[in-house]
Amino acid sequence: MELPGINYLNSLVKRRWPFLIFIAVIIFFPVVISSYSIVRLGVVLAIYAIIITGMTVLTRYLGIVSLGHAGFFAIGAYTSSILCVKLEINPWLAMIGAALLTVVIAFLFCVPFLKLRHIYLGMATLGLGQVVYILSKSMDNLTGGAAGFADIPYLQIGSLLFDEDKYLFYLAGFILIIFTFIVDNLGQMRLGRAYHAIQSNEKAARASGINVQKNMLHVFCFSAFLASIAGSILAHFITFISPESFTMDISFACLIIILIGGANIWSTLITAVILLGFQEAVRGLHDFSTGVYALLLIVTFFVFPDGLASVIFPRSKAAKKKSKLYSRDIPENLKSSEVKNNTGKILEVNDVSFNYGGTQALLNISLSVEYNQIMGIIGPNGAGKTTLLNILNGFLMPLNGTIKYQNTDITHKQVHELAKMKIARTFQLVNLFKGMTVIENVMVGRHLKGKTGIFRSGLNLKTSRDEEHIIWDGAVKSLESLGLMHRAYDIVDNLSFGEQRQVELARALALEPDLLLLDEPAAGLNTAETEKLADNLRNIRDQGITIILVEHNMPLVMSVSDTVFVLNFGMSIACGTPEFVCKEEKVITAYLGKEAKNVS
Ligand code: ATP
Repeated sequence: MELPGINYLNSLVKRRWPFLIFIAVIIFFPVVISSYSIVRLGVVLAIYAIIITGMTVLTRYLGIVSLGHAGFFAIGAYTSSILCVKLEINPWLAMIGAALLTVVIAFLFCVPFLKLRHIYLGMATLGLGQVVYILSKSMDNLTGGAAGFADIPYLQIGSLLFDEDKYLFYLAGFILIIFTFIVDNLGQMRLGRAYHAIQSNEKAARASGINVQKNMLHVFCFSAFLASIAGSILAHFITFISPESFTMDISFACLIIILIGGANIWSTLITAVILLGFQEAVRGLHDFSTGVYALLLIVTFFVFPDGLASVIFPRSKAAKKKSKLYSRDIPENLKSSEVKNNTGKILEVNDVSFNYGGTQALLNISLSVEYNQIMGIIGPNGAGKTTLLNILNGFLMPLNGTIKYQNTDITHKQVHELAKMKIARTFQLVNLFKGMTVIENVMVGRHLKGKTGIFRSGLNLKTSRDEEHIIWDGAVKSLESLGLMHRAYDIVDNLSFGEQRQVELARALALEPDLLLLDEPAAGLNTAETEKLADNLRNIRDQGITIILVEHNMPLVMSVSDTVFVLNFGMSIACGTPEFVCKEEKVITAYLGKEAKNVS
């Protein structure tokens, strides 16, 4: 008979073996290594690894490239030193104060700059790093200028003074262990999926209820916080700092390590140890090490663009493993779907217009949709159908008019707010999160079922584990309702087009919507798939979910819709039952042609 303790130990070792090895390395490194200079190098490595840990979430999980984290490193080091030396504040409090100040600065930086993307955001962070560097050089009275800032006190706990490298290594190692644990967990949970979703497809992420700006802000501040802590430890370790300790080279080196390491904290830490160790070994040959970094980066981009992680921990295997993390049998009471029984109008659009520059896409559109109905929206190419859907779920704001949903004015609400109000959608071109499994994609659709932030999620507390179970249960339910569960652990990239469309529908259903907006869901489907889609749409409607269906496939629209709304050149030309619309002269002339008679 096996003891439960042994089972737990087995599963702990199975799940957390890299982490356990890492803890052992931190504990035994100063014991085994007798060389003073190597232990000192270990401290420096641990300090840089703290910055790299935060930057991994920012760059590899979320896709934001920062070229200015040396700035936050410097703010942490200088603030902590100034508070200790000039204001005689306890070094630990100074360290916390410095970290808080850094977070405030990071927040203020984000307000105007996080709207930027890609290279523009990278350039803004580069500017930030340079501004901090110049200020540290020019504010002689405060920072000591180019001559540096000396006599920074050691950290101390009771009678234990952190003046020995060994102690400093344990301190930096302990902080690194905590944040590595947080970052490793984050990558496997709701927030990690949200970050991947933002990086992979921001539009679909927003439609799934993810507040992109807020998540970016949190991660940016989190990574700045870690850089600041690392800076403070450095200052109290070497007791002297100068602007040359915080040049752009540090930001570049950290970034290169992350790009080579990939989206896995372990491969990134291995890369950091190898590259920083190598840099130290050829310390006198600065140009040589820079050349090697550049060469490695080029090789990485050509051979394994997703970094070392894709070689050591292949994406598909890692994604499957992550997907199964919270798998369990769904409780019986969750299997049956409750049918919503609302009556009246769910949506009222009044006099809405929109134009793209000189193109009038919609003109004075008014329509209303009843609960538990399917409204088909048809019209020729360019009639304004997608524009109308984009307005209904907040991607576009109407120029005039109002939109009421469940008796609430939603005219100026944003996409993620509307997702929270249970408006879900699919897109004309399939928008999935590539590199993730089917079930992970659908789990993103349940993002709003969780509330835990970076720390609670990263520390794997019970609340966040419970959230994962709720999210997993709902995702399975959604996949089962569309008969897709057998594909749950496949990477979405490997699915057929028809299956990908179904995954998108499953993700939208996972949000448990009251209103579902579908943009040409039958485009690219074969006859059998289209028939299956028609059945699915009727089932969804019968569960009390209202559907607005934009579609060019007339047999499908006419067979499933309760009402059909017709657009032409951005204007409404008819609205009524499918039979009524098919006979309307204006609709036949503008869109249906003579085929209409066959369809009806
Ligand atoms: P389709 O059936 O081909 O998808 P649609 O009915 O969905 O067409 P929309 O995509 O809403 O039509 O386009 C309405 C009008 O707005 C068209 O004239 C289109 O060219 C124009 N339009 C759409 N998107 C943009 C854009 N981003 N910038 C400028 N014009 C646009």
